[in-house]
Amino acid sequence: MAECKRCLLHEAAEEDTLKSIKERIDKLSEKERAPDELYEKRLSECKRCDNLISGVCMKCGCYVEFRAAFKKNNCPNVKDRRW
Ligand code: SF4
Repeated sequence: MAECKRCLLHEAAEEDTLKSIKERIDKLSEKERAPDELYEKRLSECKRCDNLISGVCMKCGCYVEFRAAFKKNNCPNVKDRRW
């Protein structure tokens, strides 16, 4: 796959990986999972961030669509924490 700067995974067409992530997110409990509105807000911040490349955060190596799904998580960039 070509490098896709500021793309989320669902836009970078990594369908198998995205499917696997969605399945794992679906298994999170209500308590663990970020509410939809918060999740979308987090992803919109990632999309404006230079650390996002092909759905992966270069600060932590996570797929942001997975990291952002956990209510307790935050942006790993301590110098410019966006969420
Ligand atoms: S540094 Fe924060 S805002 Fe940027 S891609 Fe990573 S998680 Fe998203």
